[in-house]
Amino acid sequence: MEQPTDSMEITGINSYHIDYEMDAPFEPSWYPELEQHVHKVQLYEVETDAGISGITSVTGDASRVDSLDLAREYLVGEDPRHIEQRLDDLASLNSYGPRPWHFEIAFWDIKGKEVGKPIYELLGGDGDPIPAYASSGELRSVDERLDWVADRVDEGFEAIKLRFHSDDMAEDVAVARAVREAYPDLEIMVDLNMGWSFAHPGGGTWTFDDALSVARDLEEIGNIGWLEEPFNQRNYERLARLREKTDIPIAGGEFNNGVHQFREFVEHDALDVLQPDVMLSAGISKTKLIAGLADMHGLQFAPHTWNDGIGFAANVQLLACTNPSWCEYPIEPPGWSLDTRDFLLEEQLTAEDGAIVPPSGPGLGIDLDWDLVEELSESTA
Ligand SMILES: [Mg+2]
Repeated sequence: MEQPTDSMEITGINSYHIDYEMDAPFEPSWYPELEQHVHKVQLYEVETDAGISGITSVTGDASRVDSLDLAREYLVGEDPRHIEQRLDDLASLNSYGPRPWHFEIAFWDIKGKEVGKPIYELLGGDGDPIPAYASSGELRSVDERLDWVADRVDEGFEAIKLRFHSDDMAEDVAVARAVREAYPDLEIMVDLNMGWSFAHPGGGTWTFDDALSVARDLEEIGNIGWLEEPFNQRNYERLARLREKTDIPIAGGEFNNGVHQFREFVEHDALDVLQPDVMLSAGISKTKLIAGLADMHGLQFAPHTWNDGIGFAANVQLLACTNPSWCEYPIEPPGWSLDTRDFLLEEQLTAEDGAIVPPSGPGLGIDLDWDLVEELSESTA
């Protein structure tokens, strides 16, 4: 193992845009008019004068927004291991440009690689398996969804997440009822995706009464893990009002920006389940603070992980050093298969018996398929 060096500087940031052709189209429920054929990832490699590089990425539409010039200006010449100082730089980037929290993941990757340990070990965690729920991503008919659930139950999952986004919400409720009838003990989470996807064509918005009526149906269906993002992600008051009226736990936070918006959730009694994503919401250090906030207020902590394989691994590292209720395990084949999700990784992060074992290699614990990166990317460096 290499000894930590006294000084280290970021010498550059390489950026690669990668378009991965999916085996089958994917129609995300949260973006009703989109048929996705390509998984777009912006990959970043933060290089240092110690010969260690850290990796990070941005997935999907967020990857179209380029913060690279600004990031280089603020980060090159600085020590990536002084993460609290670098977070101040990222806070400036957050003010000036698109959210920058993913860069902090590369700093942790560098720190872990320097001492030969996974990030979770640096942050007091362990390698125990983390219970995972299978997270779907499309609206499907009752029969198609029952087939998907059967596959997940065979794989050992004890909890699954359904998407509600149909024009006629009775169709979504019918899917949940059918799953409940077939699997009386399965825990069912429900994601409405109204937190931010209202901005998409056809993304829609729900009224308070729509959400309350679905919550009542779900109370009757029973054993519902949570109802996720019924309203705009910053409508704290409305979330709190719904939470008061139903026994179903209310979840959210995947695309909220920065730790202070999570404090707002808590101060408004808006949520039962905090769902930050280390890539999108706050980075690893601050998301650990959010986990502490959840713990102190008796809330569940169940991060959003729907990213490429790098983002999934980064969230799993954080999960392994906190006390989460669940790990989200995105899986909606044939479009959003593990091949699509983890195409950048040498080895897929596969759940076993409904749990995910955090990768124990140095840093993020993953190896990238650099030959594939080279083949598919245009370097935008
Ligand atoms: Mg969600």
